Amino acid sequence: MEGIKISGTLTFRLTLWYAVLFIVLSLAVFFLFYITLSSNLTRRIDEELAEDANEIIPILESGRPEALREYIKEEEDPEDSEKEFFLVLSPGLEIMASTDLGSWNGLYPAPVFLMKLENGREVIKSVSLPGRENKIRVIYKKTSGGVIQKGMSLEDDEELLESLRSIFGTTAAVVLLSGSLFGWLMARRAMSGVERVRETAALIGRGDLSSRVPIGREGLEIENLALVFNEMLDKIEALVREIKEVTHNIAHDLRSPTTRIRGICETTLGSIPDADNCRDAFGTVINECDRLTGMINTLLEIAETEAGVAPLDKTSMDMNKLAVDAYELFHPVAEDKGVHLDLQSGEGPLTVKGDVARLQRAVANLLDNAIKYTPPGGRVILSVTGGPEHVILTVSDTGKGIDEKTLSRVFDRFYRGDESRSTPGNGLGLSLARALVAAHGGRIEVRSAPGKGSEFTILLPGEWPSG
Ligand code: ADP
Repeated sequence: MEGIKISGTLTFRLTLWYAVLFIVLSLAVFFLFYITLSSNLTRRIDEELAEDANEIIPILESGRPEALREYIKEEEDPEDSEKEFFLVLSPGLEIMASTDLGSWNGLYPAPVFLMKLENGREVIKSVSLPGRENKIRVIYKKTSGGVIQKGMSLEDDEELLESLRSIFGTTAAVVLLSGSLFGWLMARRAMSGVERVRETAALIGRGDLSSRVPIGREGLEIENLALVFNEMLDKIEALVREIKEVTHNIAHDLRSPTTRIRGICETTLGSIPDADNCRDAFGTVINECDRLTGMINTLLEIAETEAGVAPLDKTSMDMNKLAVDAYELFHPVAEDKGVHLDLQSGEGPLTVKGDVARLQRAVANLLDNAIKYTPPGGRVILSVTGGPEHVILTVSDTGKGIDEKTLSRVFDRFYRGDESRSTPGNGLGLSLARALVAAHGGRIEVRSAPGKGSEFTILLPGEWPSG
């Protein structure tokens, strides 16, 4: 990942997102828990304060200060004198009785709001006293006999909440760190598939078309990405191979005629040129030029037809009629070679929507091959039938057949079977036939048994009368 800033990687961003999400969620959970706990603690203290204050009311209202002092003395726990206190004031807010207030500076004089407090009412407050680290919780209860104040230090509760906060802080930091590390490792593992795709693409960019992405186990999405990427690479590699072959073949096929043309001209120039010599030479040159032009035109036609830019003059046409025309055209050629050509037409008009001239060309290429690759005494059958969806035109022969290796490539541009090289041809006939048939929405199939013969079948979508 040279040259890539870590902060820009998806791995980093994913980790960061998860970390932020984790912090926000755990803070929310902790906050809820903390608030609930702290309000429960306060409520518990408030209940205790109210209970204690209520217990004094009857004694206070009995009008016997000694009894009150007695009660408070009994209630006082010297060990807890720093944690809770009792203070009872007269209706004029003078101290009537109290526990030891040595560590409760600031409780007296009584706060101003007590003057306004109605009889029978109570107020509970959290109060800070000078010299005390923690707040205290105090109940002020006013009765006709005076004001009862009972207070408790919040030290224990605050300590509990404080240790909770620090436990949460430490735990959150540890979990966050280990979670981020784990998240980072997981994200890196998941992203390693993408990284492998990038590495393979880089290798291909450097010209190694055979590289493929190793399939890992990061998850189906990444596996599928690698599979699709590899499939695409297979196609690209096949395409590049084909382009190389075609270019090589074009170069080869152009070189032979041009070398021949040059040779003829050289020989003619070197000899004592008379009119006959010149006529022969020019004749051969013209033939070679025609061959070249024909090849270039066929190549262009294949390319245009495959690209869908060749204009097709489609009409409703009867394939039976096309077969009859082709039969009549090729009958003399077959006869010359001593090959028996048969026609088996289908019943009734077998209509397709097609460009007559182009379909004639496709069928002619098949017939030409069948006669070319069938030795004298052999037989070629041209038949047309109607299938449920297609019009089927078959050209079968009893010729030399096609071996398995050749069979898979007969439709490739410039491909010629090894044994066919002695026969005239340029390896473009079947490519053109396939392109033309495909342009009509059909397909060509081939079956062959070496030594016994071959069968080429054109299937075209039929145009059946409705109903
Ligand atoms: P060409 O006939 O000019 O070589 P084609 O594209 O028409 O080119 O055919 C490609 C190859 O397919 C031929 O070279 C030949 O090897 C093989 N082939 C085509 N038709 C037949 C057939 N009927 N019998 C045997 N081989 C055939």
